[in-house]
Amino acid sequence: MKIYKAAIIGLGPSGLAVNKILYGDSSSEIIAFENEDINNRDNFFGFWLTDWMKPFENIIEKKWYKWTIGDKKINITHASSDKPYCVISFKKWKNYCLDTKNKLEIKNKKVIQYFSEKNYFKIITADNSEYYAEKIYDSRSTKEKKGELIQHFFGINITVANNTFNENKLTLMHFTEEKNLLHFIYILPFSHNKALVESTVFSKEIFKISWYREKIMDHLSLKKISKFEECSTEKGIIPMFFVEEKRPSSPNIFNIGIRGGACKPSTGYAFSFLIKQIQLLKKSKKNYVNTHKFLERKMDKIFINFLKNNNENGQSFIKLASNLNGDEFQSFMMGESNLITKLKIIKSMPKLPFIKELFK
Ligand SMILES: Cc1cc2nc3c(=O)[nH]c(=O)nc-3n(C[C@H](O)[C@H](O)[C@H](O)COP(=O)(O)OP(=O)(O)OC[C@H]3O[C@@H](n4cnc5c(N)ncnc54)[C@H](O)[C@@H]3O)c2cc1C
Repeated sequence: MKIYKAAIIGLGPSGLAVNKILYGDSSSEIIAFENEDINNRDNFFGFWLTDWMKPFENIIEKKWYKWTIGDKKINITHASSDKPYCVISFKKWKNYCLDTKNKLEIKNKKVIQYFSEKNYFKIITADNSEYYAEKIYDSRSTKEKKGELIQHFFGINITVANNTFNENKLTLMHFTEEKNLLHFIYILPFSHNKALVESTVFSKEIFKISWYREKIMDHLSLKKISKFEECSTEKGIIPMFFVEEKRPSSPNIFNIGIRGGACKPSTGYAFSFLIKQIQLLKKSKKNYVNTHKFLERKMDKIFINFLKNNNENGQSFIKLASNLNGDEFQSFMMGESNLITKLKIIKSMPKLPFIKELFK
C-alpha cells in the first residue's frame, strides 16, 4: 500500500499553488485528483501587484498602470506607479506550478470521500479506487447558494482593427443602466487591437450566455467597434458569500482556495489571495490561516449585505472610486488599506443603509 506525502483535491489555482509553493522544492511524492480536463481551462486572473505577488512577476501576461471606473456620465481614471493591475493566465500558472522537483501523480478522477485511518487518510474516488496520503489539501467549493449573491460573467477575447484600444489603460468597471441590476463591462486591452471584453453581473441567479453577449455587443457598438474576430471566450461564477468551510477536525486536513476562505466576496477577487493563503500556510504550523484581516472581513460583510438588500447600480463603486486615489483604491481591493483609507471608504458609502447593515 503506497502512502503519498499529500493528496491535493482539485487542480485549480489553489491546488496547483500547493504543489509549487509547499512541495515544489522537495522530493515528496504527491497525488492530485482533478475531475475535469484542466488542459481545456484558460482564463485570466487579475490582481494588483502586492508584495506577496512579486515572486510571480515573470509569468505576468501584462501590467496596466492606469484603470478606469465609471458609467456613461462619469469616468474616473486611477493610476498607481508601483502597484499596477496585472493578469496571469491559468495556462501559465498551471505550467509554472507543475514545473517542480517533487513527484506529482495526477489522477483524472472525482474524489467521493476521504476519512482518517491510523496516521493517514483513505481517499475514495468515483470508480471505487482507494488511495492513501498523510495530508489532504481540499479545494472543492460551492459556487452558488440559494438566496445569496454571486458574481457571474462571460467574456470574449477579440481582435479588432489596428489602434482601436488604448493598451495602457484598462476598463475595470463601466456600469451600464439596467433595471434593478448591477452590471458592468470589464475590458483588458492586451494591445492596440486585442482585448478581453467581459460582461459581469452581481445578482442571485445566472443568465443565458446570449444576455451577456448582447451587453458586450451594445458596448462595442457604443465604442463604434463593428468588426471584430472572436478568438476565445471565458465564463465563470464567483460566490459573493462567505464560502469558508468549518475548520477541519484533523490537523492534517487543509481547506484551500475559495473553500478555505480566500475569496474577497464583495469583489470576487480570489486569485492573489489564494496564493497568499498558501504562502501563509507554508509559514504556519496550523492547518488554518486567516487570509483576510478581521476588519476587512467585517467591512466586506457589511458591503455584501448592503448590495443584497439595496438596488445598487454601481453608484457606490463610482463614489468610492472618486473619493480615493489609485494607490488607496488598490490597497482597499487587495485588503491592505490603512485606517485613513478605511475612513474615506466608510465616508463614501450611503450612510443610512450602511448603518442599518452594521447593526444587523
Ligand atoms: C473564468 C474566471 C475568471 C476569474 N477571474 C478572476 C480574476 O480576474 N481575479 C481573481 O482574483 N479571481 C478571479 N476568479 C476567481 C477565482 O480566482 C477562481 O474562481 C479560482 O479558480 C479559484 O481557485 P480554487 O483553486 O479555489 O478553486 P477552483 O478553481 O474551483 O478549483 C477547484 C478544482 O477542483 C476540481 N474538483 C471539484 N470537485 C472535485 C472532486 N470531487 N474531485 C476532484 N476534483 C474536483 C474542480 O474541477 C476544479 O478544477 C475567476 C474565476 C473564474 C471562473
